[in-house]
Amino acid sequence: MSLIIGLTGGIGSGKTAASDWFAQQGITVIDADVVAREIVEPGKPALTEIQQTFGNWVIQQDGTLDRAALRQYIFNHPEARATLEGITHPRIRQQIISQLNNATSPYRMLVSPLLIESRQHELVDRVLLVDVPEHLQLSRASLRDSQTAEAIAKIMQVQMPRLQRQTHANDIVVNDGDLVHLYSQLMPLHQKYLQLAQANK
Ligand code: ATP
Repeated sequence: MSLIIGLTGGIGSGKTAASDWFAQQGITVIDADVVAREIVEPGKPALTEIQQTFGNWVIQQDGTLDRAALRQYIFNHPEARATLEGITHPRIRQQIISQLNNATSPYRMLVSPLLIESRQHELVDRVLLVDVPEHLQLSRASLRDSQTAEAIAKIMQVQMPRLQRQTHANDIVVNDGDLVHLYSQLMPLHQKYLQLAQANK
């Protein structure tokens, strides 16, 4: 199989900004967050299993998963997280593998905020980290999500620390300037990945 790049980074680091750029170059980008939502859509086996395990209260009137209620439940019952992840994670992984297999671009990209934490990095050949100083993470994410810096800081606290992420990366771009600065770092990586993909054939 051709080369697979795993793209990761903390909240508001610029993963979407970077992966949109790769998509514009014709690279197939699979977003683990999108897959995670797809596998619990109404009618999917994972949603039925979640309902059977936790109860009917997890389903909203329109048949969709009540994410907020489930999030609150897990916050109050931390042991339930493993149960939920036991239902969702294998299906997310399977779906990611299948989408990666079906992709036809010269190399493929998996974008995941939890690439390392959920061991999805085992599915990729190289890890590309979008790294950013914490103060920019705070200001960009709070501006985008209309949330307070405190709310974003809380999320950052439970994510993998920046230094630890760096140790897992094969390639690092530092998104501390404007988007032109970001893209100027992505172009040489794209060229490198095309060459590696060619050599992998
Ligand atoms: P999350 O994990 O929270 O979804 P993310 O890593 O995908 O975040 P983005 O959504 O790409 O991050 O970026 C966060 C915000 O910062 C967005 O509003 C984006 O437009 C903005 N942004 C990203 N990079 C830059 C940059 N270099 N200059 C200015 N704004 C940027």
